[in-house]
Amino acid sequence: MSPAETASGSLTPANLPRVGSHRAARGKETDLGATRRLRRINRTLAAVYPDAHAELDFNSAFELLIATVLSAQTTDVRVNQVTPRLFARFPNAAALAGASPAEVEEIIRPTGFYRAKAANIISLAQSLVTEHGGQVPEGLDDLVRLAGVGRKTAHVVRGNAFGQPGLTVDTHFQRLMARFRVIDGLGQKPTPEQIEKEVGRRVEKREWTDFSQRIIWHGRRYCHARKAACGVCPLAADCPSFGIAGPAEPGAAQSLVSEADLARRDNLEALR
Ligand code: SF4
Repeated sequence: MSPAETASGSLTPANLPRVGSHRAARGKETDLGATRRLRRINRTLAAVYPDAHAELDFNSAFELLIATVLSAQTTDVRVNQVTPRLFARFPNAAALAGASPAEVEEIIRPTGFYRAKAANIISLAQSLVTEHGGQVPEGLDDLVRLAGVGRKTAHVVRGNAFGQPGLTVDTHFQRLMARFRVIDGLGQKPTPEQIEKEVGRRVEKREWTDFSQRIIWHGRRYCHARKAACGVCPLAADCPSFGIAGPAEPGAAQSLVSEADLARRDNLEALR
């Protein structure tokens, strides 16, 4: 069976690249070439994940803000398990501002670091009440002044609750940008803010929120931290880390991806 004829069928790239052969992996790519490639990656991911969205459940900017603060160091699934009870008990900033820390801690305990998180979200709610009339502010500067809110959380809220373009530089985003070799110029340990700026100059501003979401989805589904599913990855041709971050052989790679996510590549095939 050839690589193109594995169980993942005709969706496997017919001409898998040679490991290490990408222009960017050989240091031969121009700055413009990197920008064009990153935009192409965005278009491919848009086809593969047309439904990419924030995986935290929310019904308002307030709920999204609190859920995003709770999502630090844990999974969205775990946060979604505690927020229905939290928001039923404390449906708005005014209610949460007057909450007892012990009661909040008990509800959010499964998300980890629950003492610090409870203190942060109560303090954050108090700031919303005293400084913003109980509403979530839209401005980046106002958001990052709230307890437990960094640029990443602020961009999630601005992008998904207010429709303001923002790049969400989380751990998946950082890993994938490094694997795409589009931030090589920033040195060994760039800050999230440096990455945001560098990627922001390459990707169209109107795409920033969706691009972030697609990258995070791809990081969760294919481009895993320990072992990436390179051999079945729809970005194989555009990724200089193909076969370096994970197995290039489709048979070995497909076991790293769920059936449902392998089937997502049908979206891409349909556009070809
Ligand atoms: S899974 Fe492999 S080929 Fe796909 S984006 Fe990640 S490193 Fe690149």
